[in-house]
Amino acid sequence: MFTLTNCRVIKEEEISQSCNIVTDNGIIVDINTEKGLKGDFDAQNSLVSAGLIDIHTHGGFGGDFMDCEKQSFDNALKFHLQNGTTSVLATTVTAPVKSIKNFLQSYRLYTSGKTEYAEPVGVHLEGPYLSVKNKGAQKEEYLLSPDKDDYGFILENSDIIKTVTISPELPKAEIMTKDLVENGIVVCGGHDDGIFPEFIPAIENGLSHLTHAYCAMSEVRFKDGKRNVGLREYGLCDDRLTAEIIFDKKHITSELAKMIIKLKGIDKVCVVSDSLRCAGMPNDGRLYRLGSKDDADAQLFKVSDGVAVLADGTRYAGSITPIREMVLNLMQCGYSVCDAFKTATVNPAKVIRRKDLGRVAKNCIADLCVYDDKFNIKTVIKKGNIVK
Ligand SMILES: [Zn+2]
Repeated sequence: MFTLTNCRVIKEEEISQSCNIVTDNGIIVDINTEKGLKGDFDAQNSLVSAGLIDIHTHGGFGGDFMDCEKQSFDNALKFHLQNGTTSVLATTVTAPVKSIKNFLQSYRLYTSGKTEYAEPVGVHLEGPYLSVKNKGAQKEEYLLSPDKDDYGFILENSDIIKTVTISPELPKAEIMTKDLVENGIVVCGGHDDGIFPEFIPAIENGLSHLTHAYCAMSEVRFKDGKRNVGLREYGLCDDRLTAEIIFDKKHITSELAKMIIKLKGIDKVCVVSDSLRCAGMPNDGRLYRLGSKDDADAQLFKVSDGVAVLADGTRYAGSITPIREMVLNLMQCGYSVCDAFKTATVNPAKVIRRKDLGRVAKNCIADLCVYDDKFNIKTVIKKGNIVK
């Protein structure tokens, strides 16, 4: 048993005052307002949210999940935990299938033990079934196509792979989508080069999420005498789709975030860090390697003006901003505390279909963040234990 007293709890619709949160065996078993309850931790009337959930991150504190080693996992997960993120999807970059398989093995090995940092709750495969045009920072030579290249290795690992980003206009992408969805995997559209209606068959077959909306995504194009929408516009208006945004005010600015949220609705938007190994590291012009540190000809990138850019400065490679700061950015835009936190808690939990995460509610996992008045992290509790 571990009980927090005197909490102001951030829920989906309201902030509940003077709450006690009772946990047992890592699960929230009761939330009450009983006065004078003796607990283990007095929150002193601080705001408390569910632990944050980042469904798109590659690394942090010098580590990239693709390094396939414990130290890199620890570093990345420590970066997140320090920023209040208690659950993450470890995300791959486009790489040879052999390297992705290696990563999946190292993920299994790492998660067979316990971590004191953020919990990896699954894998997000970002590629390699992506378009050449919008590959972003991903390497072209490793791109695959669903009609030519076997994706059996994804189905074989469907117990740990939660989400897969594909380019939905690729030949037979709709069949791949169907196969993945039937195996419980959430299929996301992104890094694509489609034009309406090329991506519709994949959506009809269950593609349900937009990977970093507006970044490396197809857009309005003139074709056959008509101005046709790309996935970025279409995706905003189809209610079957949820969307993630890298709201670091670089990849997505405040005005764009407001437009996306207005169209999608606050309940369908998740903030994601898409953080790279340079997150939380010195910003001194040094070059970092995208993906595995052992990949001799990996793309190189650097940190410039608060964002990761390819070494030649031509495009963004990812962010260095944890999602807690993105939640603060949303509040600065005028969203309520409850709405801003939804995008980093209950919404991503829904995307990865985890009813037991992302809410401060009975029967949920006792992952909690305690904040000061400026939303700095005071304490993080993971499965009912103080971890920071
Ligand atoms: Zn990414």
